Amino acid sequence: MFELVFATNNPNKFKEVAAAFPSTIKLLTLAEAGFAGEIPETGNTLVANALQKARFIYQATHKNCFADDTGLEVEALNGAPGVYSARYAGVNATADENMNLLLQNLASNPNKKARFTTVFALIIDAKEYLFEGSIDGEILPEKTGDGGFGYDPIFKPVGYSKSFAQMTLDEKKLISHRGIALKEMVGFFKEKNPK
Ligand code: IMP
Repeated sequence: MFELVFATNNPNKFKEVAAAFPSTIKLLTLAEAGFAGEIPETGNTLVANALQKARFIYQATHKNCFADDTGLEVEALNGAPGVYSARYAGVNATADENMNLLLQNLASNPNKKARFTTVFALIIDAKEYLFEGSIDGEILPEKTGDGGFGYDPIFKPVGYSKSFAQMTLDEKKLISHRGIALKEMVGFFKEKNPK
């Protein structure tokens, strides 16, 4: 079976992504690939970070692999928090702290437009491929719903009347930035059959 390492330390993400791949591909965790430790993430863009993580794991394990990076860009904040979404309110900030800061910074601004983007960087036999997915929406005035994670309670996709945190996992997966990027990457395996 064709093996592929997903360079993430997030077990929930791993599970969700693994479920989308065809049964001909076996997704390996970092531990299964023999890697333990931190993966550097010092880029200034989502693409740079996803590539940096994938290249690091490719070099460390010599196995085909991919990595992802996600950011929330708020138009009125000149694209912030963007690539810094995870540490918007500080290096070890919680999701609540990040959301509180975002709501505070946006409070007096009528422009609530925002966009989530995920990039997957895939490396197969030293060849690099990028897949991207985005969803437009708006920042709600307050946290709404208690499902999901991260910024889900304050993000409402265009055309929907509820936040990501009020959606079921399946509902969100169909329309989300990560769902779209993942579909592209899985489609690549099904159509181009690189292995
Ligand atoms: P990462 O690149 O997946 O680690 O995500 C970077 C930041 O965006 C973290 O703060 C995540 O909590 C947040 N984030 C990523 N994906 C989502 C999502 O689907 N909904 C809400 N927040 C997300």
